[in-house]
Amino acid sequence: MNGDMLELRSARWIARFAMEHILREGMRAVDCTMGNGHDTCLMASLVGASGHVDAFDVQEKAVASTAERLKAEGTADRVTLHCVGHEHIAERVTEPVQMIVFNLGWLPGGDKQVTTRWDTTRRAVSDALELLAPMGMLSVCVYPGHAEGKVELEGLLQLFSSLPARRFNVVRHAFINACDAPECFLIQRQRD
Ligand code: SAH
Repeated sequence: MNGDMLELRSARWIARFAMEHILREGMRAVDCTMGNGHDTCLMASLVGASGHVDAFDVQEKAVASTAERLKAEGTADRVTLHCVGHEHIAERVTEPVQMIVFNLGWLPGGDKQVTTRWDTTRRAVSDALELLAPMGMLSVCVYPGHAEGKVELEGLLQLFSSLPARRFNVVRHAFINACDAPECFLIQRQRD
């Protein structure tokens, strides 16, 4: 019912919306938290055979399931999987990119101890901002329903509010009448 009406949707939805509306054939993208590989696969199909995706995760399990998913979709040829922390992004990615995504927290169904942490998230997000091409977009989904997620949200708010408006536009997508609901930040580098 009302299938054609706009519906306010989750943090993940707005992140996917950004990927779908930024990425085109031949572009470059980075997934900083591979997890189960959904975002890596989506971006690999959007950039096509002439594009490229770099994807990071510290867990071999995440890398293996992403590799399998890419193989099944026939898009593994344009993706480099890095089994290292996203805090190494500046060493591994050297060309400007159009889209960088972070989906923070832990792998659903996995070890909750292996969650992203603010000290490494801060470094990775700061370096990611410097890799964006003009009009390139960074999306960060954060989960304040757990203690480390709250620390990440506070840190991100401070970091993003202090970005110079002449270089970046920052949008915060949050359900302000819900307690600890996931949030998504979208940061777009201005045109040169
Ligand atoms: N909370 C999300 C899923 C997040 S998955 C949801 O509910 O849908 C987050 C992924 O980040 C996990 O696979 C985890 O292994 C990975 N991760 C943790 N620390 C990392 C780091 N320093 N660099 C890259 N990936 C990391």
